[in-house]
Amino acid sequence: MSKIDSNTITIYNSLKGEKEIFKPISAPNLGIYVCGPTVYSNVHLGNCRTFLSFDNIVRYFKFLGYNVRYVRNITDAGHLVDDAEQGEDKISKKARLEKLEPMEIVQKYTLDFHQVLSQFNALPPSIEPTATGHIQEQITMINAILDKGLAYEANGSIYFDVKKYNAEGGNYGELSGRNIEDLMAGSRALDGQSEKKNPQDFALWKKASPEHIMRWDSPWGVGFPGWHLECSAMGTKYLGEQFDIHGGGMDLKFPHHECEIAQGKACNGVSPVNYWMHANMLTLNGQKMSKSTGNTLLPEELFSGKNDLLEKAYSPMVVRFFMLQAHYRSILDFSSEALNASEKGFHKLMEAKSALNNLMYKPGVVSETADKKVKDLIADCYANMNDDFNTPKTIAVLFELVNKINKMLAEKAIDLSEIVFNELKEIFNGFIEDVFGLKPEITTNNGKLDVVLELLIGMRNNAKQNKDYALSDQIRDELNNIGIQLKDSKEGTTYTIK
Ligand code: AMP
Ligand code: ZN
Repeated sequence: MSKIDSNTITIYNSLKGEKEIFKPISAPNLGIYVCGPTVYSNVHLGNCRTFLSFDNIVRYFKFLGYNVRYVRNITDAGHLVDDAEQGEDKISKKARLEKLEPMEIVQKYTLDFHQVLSQFNALPPSIEPTATGHIQEQITMINAILDKGLAYEANGSIYFDVKKYNAEGGNYGELSGRNIEDLMAGSRALDGQSEKKNPQDFALWKKASPEHIMRWDSPWGVGFPGWHLECSAMGTKYLGEQFDIHGGGMDLKFPHHECEIAQGKACNGVSPVNYWMHANMLTLNGQKMSKSTGNTLLPEELFSGKNDLLEKAYSPMVVRFFMLQAHYRSILDFSSEALNASEKGFHKLMEAKSALNNLMYKPGVVSETADKKVKDLIADCYANMNDDFNTPKTIAVLFELVNKINKMLAEKAIDLSEIVFNELKEIFNGFIEDVFGLKPEITTNNGKLDVVLELLIGMRNNAKQNKDYALSDQIRDELNNIGIQLKDSKEGTTYTIK
């Protein structure tokens, strides 16, 4: 049985407000869309948490053998300063302040975003589309919604008609749990100058004022797309009218994702996404980490230790591990104490991994109980990830395996059968590296050397197992020639540098 068939995943679907068994549309293919950053400033650690939560989820699907098309966009137009319908574009405002072209701002902060995520060892998406690269698709979508009579033009702008959509069977509010009647009753009456029929209506296209420099031609005059539309247009283009999973931070549920559902349904007649997933916030001093309030920490400040909130510097892998220790749906509060504890835990885990990889199997007294215990723990790793991607519980199980590994090292005896021992190696490495994206810290040249030597010792062990003694001797001798001496013992291989 393939790993896909033997692992039933349950996902907390925000649209249903409960956990559901995950049924992909056409396994082993999977479509996942995650809202990307608005590239007008450096990503902060809170943004990174959301992207890393989805990185783990994508990684787990891939580990099970799914063929994932992972789309994560770059918002480079249409997101206005007030997160609603008025004001400047966030990007052109920054361009004005920094005296740069808007596309220079986009380039600068897209590069920063990529660089930060690669330091955290996040996998790149399969497609990273931009809003400005998909203006035509957005116009086409608006036309389709206009044709259905669910949007209207007012003074060169196009608005989605929420009231009409709901009257015709739509369910605006289904994701956020907001009741449209309450929303209408609770909001200020339109002042008569507004172009909208109702305050809940949202812009699909906005007419550009003369000073609005990020502008495009459209059938309704010069303007720019509404913020929510890009994700609908690009999700549909690359994943289809209906796809498996859509993710983003909790704060995007309303109005961004609520509007995406309405747009998709109005345009294509089907609910665009089967499973909506929302990652919870990273807080600092109990408050949401947020660019607008200045309550932020930048990844670079963590890696350099240059921030008064920090006792010292932390490596990207320690920070990644810290985030894994909370479930993606729980709030995670940042503190130096918590990071210090994570640092210790991370080193303990990686030391056990390295020792296990250097340990050669030698048949000893095999215990069926020991075999069963390890097999059960391996099954628990899968079970916890299958349960709505419970990373903290999976890590707790990995630490039970660390205890087992350390016991075998201390007792200088392997009580596992060769099959289970090899499975332990494969799964322990697989969860740490492939699923959790953790790799040895590379902070100094010595750190790099450790990684290279671990690799060479592993290759030499393989050569020995394959009875390729010419290769195993070559590795030993050539290292010896440059002053690195390998020492074999029952517990494995160590090295000394002369
Ligand atoms: P933005 O660039 O503002 O659109 O945000 C990019 C992503 O980061 C979105 O999915 C947000 O929900 C997410 N995000 C923003 N602040 C936080 C935070 N404090 N913790 C976790 N995720 C966040
Ligand atoms: Zn989006």
